Amino acid sequence: MPVYMKNMLLLFYCLLWLIPAHARIRNGFNPELSVARNAIQALNKELLRSDLSDRERRRMHTAIKQHLSVIFSYQLTEELMNQMSLISPHIYTELNELKDRRGRTTDIYVRFIPQETSSEGLSGASFFRPSEIDEDASYSRYGNFTVAIDIWICDAALNLLAHEFGHTQYIVPNLAAYRKFYRAAYGGLIVPGRIGHSGGDQSGKLAYKYCHRFLRERRDFRANFGELQKVVEIARQVRRNVREEFEDGGNTSVASAYEY
Ligand SMILES: [Zn+2]
Repeated sequence: MPVYMKNMLLLFYCLLWLIPAHARIRNGFNPELSVARNAIQALNKELLRSDLSDRERRRMHTAIKQHLSVIFSYQLTEELMNQMSLISPHIYTELNELKDRRGRTTDIYVRFIPQETSSEGLSGASFFRPSEIDEDASYSRYGNFTVAIDIWICDAALNLLAHEFGHTQYIVPNLAAYRKFYRAAYGGLIVPGRIGHSGGDQSGKLAYKYCHRFLRERRDFRANFGELQKVVEIARQVRRNVREEFEDGGNTSVASAYEY
């Protein structure tokens, strides 16, 4: 390689170090994925043993089913986030570049979850907890400089995601001030569905704005590219893919344990 090319490459790598990393919208099931895959592999091996009792086998099938549901959830979340980025690339990019008040990148971890596993009883929820670092840093179960968003798997899943993106886009750069506002506006409120939408809540206003933007962009997308696959159809397809992947591994015991 000529010397000037080596120098250019070196410059390129230096620039990569200098440019601050962008925040990322991430799949909230990511941390669990490799655990689930490894566990299924290990359980499959165990199931080949001939000295297992029926009870042990049943226990392993149940465990496999739980791990498969993580893989299903991960892949469904991937598909829905892809659809979001296709329909609303601008909203997606804005959130992908999210920073807090001090200019630090903040990652957004998104999960699409079945209604019955939602702890908050809300169809869409964003989680911002106080961080020990400082009052402007956002903390969630994924660590410092992160936000967690949970959305129910339903027909309106992407509308709900756009709505939560609006809350997030406002709250992260205004975290300390919003926390004060939140305590004053919602302290003692026992109806969680109203939180985020009092009259003066700017995050609620942005949430509605993002949802309207998303609906407009979805209409344009349909006009240009045709009908979109429904969430229930995507879920069915993902379920089929996961089933095929594990059946292709020649594992009939997994197939029999596998239902959603
Ligand atoms: Zn809201």
